[in-house]
Amino acid sequence: MKRSIYLAGLTALGLIATMVTFEARQDRASLTVHEIADNLYMLANAPSVEGMGGGGNTAIFVTDGGVTLVDTKIKGYGQDILAAVRELTDKPVTTIINTHTHWDHSGSNPEFPDSVNFVAHENTRGHMASQDCDDGAGFQGGSIKNCESFTGANVTYLPKTTFSDTLTLFSGADQIDLYYFGRGHTDGDIFVVFRAARVMHSGDMFARRGLPFLDVPNSNGSAVEFGETLKRAISGISNVDTVIPGHNPIPLPWNDFVKYEGFYNDLVMKAQQGKAAGRSVDDVVSSYRVPSEYSNYAAPEDRVRATVQYLFDGQ
Ligand SMILES: [Zn+2]
Repeated sequence: MKRSIYLAGLTALGLIATMVTFEARQDRASLTVHEIADNLYMLANAPSVEGMGGGGNTAIFVTDGGVTLVDTKIKGYGQDILAAVRELTDKPVTTIINTHTHWDHSGSNPEFPDSVNFVAHENTRGHMASQDCDDGAGFQGGSIKNCESFTGANVTYLPKTTFSDTLTLFSGADQIDLYYFGRGHTDGDIFVVFRAARVMHSGDMFARRGLPFLDVPNSNGSAVEFGETLKRAISGISNVDTVIPGHNPIPLPWNDFVKYEGFYNDLVMKAQQGKAAGRSVDDVVSSYRVPSEYSNYAAPEDRVRATVQYLFDGQ
């Protein structure tokens, strides 16, 4: 009798465990690790994944003192990130840098120990700590919000280390330089440079080779300032060869980031000239063509329209 209850209990537990695992995995995209340097990796959506997948690209940096992550994808992916880390090293995750506030870059922060040093720009901390944080992206019907990972008992996950302009973490081969150059995708986007590897995580200031999503309504992003911020990043950051973009499935060369600034600011110029000439947003959008030198950069009409409208509105 005792034995049969025990077995039934085991079976029930086994079933529950199997179902939870299955359902969780069913919801999650496959991830791929790209080795960029001996101690630096990019954890991206697998090539077969279309759309948002697990969210933004995560950098995994193995240092003397532990593992530093940059961005933690969508809520629920902490276990996948940790599984990828465990393939590389036994060291604990000790530092997590968030490039900006969005749910697809910081959603899994609370799935790590709250003893981790969480690092972000001071404006990003402000958004995370806000009680009113709908990002308007409508993920899962808008049910996941930017600050959801930081409210209630999760306040212990708010960034512990913040800065306004620049911050350096660690030294020697482990040195990481953080830079803020102004508003763009949000008002708290930072560039993370792994000094020895000559690699930069650009977050969503350079998500992919295509026009950016501008979170003007909820995170104080700016179409007007985006292009100036890119220029400041290009002149202010040196000795980088490779970029981990916010969402592109593979790393990209620094020169693609430089071209991205030209691509974006070409649209800014066309919008400003159109407005000055008294043309309408519709007219500027319908006459816009991607210049041939940026032919591998995407300009979907909805992104062109949103960007031009913000520029016309001075936002
Ligand atoms: Zn974003």
